[in-house]
Amino acid sequence: MAFDLIVKNATLPDGRSGVDIAVDKGKISAVEPSIAAEAGRILDARGYLVTPPFVDCHFHMDATLSLGLPRMNESGTLLEGIALWGELKPLLTHEAVIERALKYCDLAVAQGLLAVRSHVDVCDDRLLAVEALLEVREKVKPYLDLQLVAFPQDGYYRSPTAARNLERALDMGVDVVGGIPHFERTMADGAASMKALCEIAAKRGLMIDVHCDESDDPLSRHIETLVSEVHRLGLGGRAVGSHLTSMHSMDSYYVSKLLPLMREAGVAAIANPLINITLQGRHDTYPRRRGLTRIAEMRALGIPVALGQDCCMDPWYGLGHADMLDVASMAVHAAPMTSREAIRWAFEAVTTVPAAILGLEGYGLAPGNNADFVILQAADTIEAVRMRAARLTVVRRGTVIAETPPRTAALNLAGRPAAVDPAAYAPKTTH
Ligand SMILES: [Zn+2]
Repeated sequence: MAFDLIVKNATLPDGRSGVDIAVDKGKISAVEPSIAAEAGRILDARGYLVTPPFVDCHFHMDATLSLGLPRMNESGTLLEGIALWGELKPLLTHEAVIERALKYCDLAVAQGLLAVRSHVDVCDDRLLAVEALLEVREKVKPYLDLQLVAFPQDGYYRSPTAARNLERALDMGVDVVGGIPHFERTMADGAASMKALCEIAAKRGLMIDVHCDESDDPLSRHIETLVSEVHRLGLGGRAVGSHLTSMHSMDSYYVSKLLPLMREAGVAAIANPLINITLQGRHDTYPRRRGLTRIAEMRALGIPVALGQDCCMDPWYGLGHADMLDVASMAVHAAPMTSREAIRWAFEAVTTVPAAILGLEGYGLAPGNNADFVILQAADTIEAVRMRAARLTVVRRGTVIAETPPRTAALNLAGRPAAVDPAAYAPKTTH
């Protein structure tokens, strides 16, 4: 039997090593040691980690790469970011949004990031960004799965036409219902928006992913209403609270009641560590809060928690480079959660966990699944996070779509080696 492609000598995220992966017609045929067969192409993984692609479950592709347009965010706050985006929105053109999004997707592919859930702002009566990103979704389909969320950035009630625009965007083919309850004028409006948006998701049979309590205000408790509505309407397993940063500052007794309800309802959480650590705590003097939600506590209860990038060179965040390992590393540091087990989890939180949240079909390194994977210059998942490892080879449906040379440095030091390979610094123990 001849395969299209065989990857030799891979280490898998679950720790298995010396594994070969055989690919036929874009699908994985076998994952086992020493596959002895002909193949159109052989890739030697040289014992490095081979992983399913990275998945970014929270992003804003309509704003990405717009840094500096029309000006910079001087205060660094979420609210100035929203105001700045409001200044840019009327200046957007269809062509410019598409060009920036495609350029971002090029970078994402190079980074082994092959699935993105992007919120798209519907508070623009032209729905220009919606149209543009729907077009981008089709254009990138051969190499990247783009899922879109109808996001009422200026408030479902606070923005006078948001409710109508959100329904229009869903009619046009946007995949998921979004929301932003903490930005409404009152707590009551925020709670009402959760009810209305969950009902839309239920009626249309869609998933819901809400920017929920992205605030340092411990009394921002819209997650409570989201959980209650998800429970009432049976939306469990397809509902997400994104950010949940107010939970960092909430009373712990209240959280001890909230989290079991979240688990019971089947609401997943998405933290965005690069953004939460930089946007939250801005009104504090010292001590200064970190703003990250309670990841360890949610994990301990079995609530699915994934990590998103949120922003890349836009009104909210001037850095970023589509690197989900950077996101995982920031979570490890900012949470902080530095046990070997937790670092392994951080890798899952940018691969398998978000893949499940997005409902990606055929994801994972198993026979029958799509032949989508990345060879990383790292011995295992912890090493990948430690080094933000180079993506040596990115494969989509059995075809190599991006390659990066190994990261090595030549040394010119008397009596020392001639080259440094960062991956050779892996600890002897992997436990
Ligand atoms: Zn966001």
